[in-house]
Amino acid sequence: MKKFLCLAAGLLMIASLAACTSKKDELVMATNAEFPPYEFHEGDKIVGIDVEICQAIADELGKELVIEDMAFDSVITSVYTGKADLGAAGLTITEDRLKNINFSDPYATAAQVIIIKEDSDIASPDDLVGKTIGVQLGTTGDIYAEDIEDATLERYNKGFEAVQALLQGKIDAVIIDNEPAKVYVSQNDGLKIVDEAFTYEEYAIAIAKDNTKLLDDVNAAIKKLKDSGKLDEIVAKYISADN
Ligand code: GLN
Repeated sequence: MKKFLCLAAGLLMIASLAACTSKKDELVMATNAEFPPYEFHEGDKIVGIDVEICQAIADELGKELVIEDMAFDSVITSVYTGKADLGAAGLTITEDRLKNINFSDPYATAAQVIIIKEDSDIASPDDLVGKTIGVQLGTTGDIYAEDIEDATLERYNKGFEAVQALLQGKIDAVIIDNEPAKVYVSQNDGLKIVDEAFTYEEYAIAIAKDNTKLLDDVNAAIKKLKDSGKLDEIVAKYISADN
């Protein structure tokens, strides 16, 4: 009996140890899977460029990638509070965000563009004065649109909802990142993107300020992905060169 108890206690210890280490072996990625082609739902899976980049980083660090899907404006908070290790959601580097979290080296360039209906009279960012503009809550599109004179802002939880509102004639334009814009325009008739972009920006991965070791590891992994051509390969899988 004594032997058995010892064995049981031993097994319990091993089990609890395993429980502890499995947490340590995870790399938790906070994202908002409403942002094709960077992160989106495909069946019951979350896929996209950011997912593959984070998977490659996790592989490099010998960790298991765990994806936490949440509202866009919770992504940075969850990194800040330590609930997630990485925030990867097509996150634009901004001075304001850098006050709360660190950003890795950039892995993509992007732009905020304007989606309009094909028959719209909006031909450049200057024409947005006085218009009703749809944005995704908490995004750089939302932040920049606040400076447009006399404009009315409609904030949506998902970029797709802003595009729906545009299709229904509830708003005049949507300001959103260029790659999801291309996806939404290709999926819906009667929409186009204004030639002149609204702003240019860079995407990077958010990491807690005190986690400098992870920042170094992620930057090293990103460098390796760039140098080996693997980053280009991932991007090419989701974005064709001619669109
Ligand atoms: N790049 C934009 C930002 O960082 C939007 C990102 C997103 O909607 N996932 O605010």
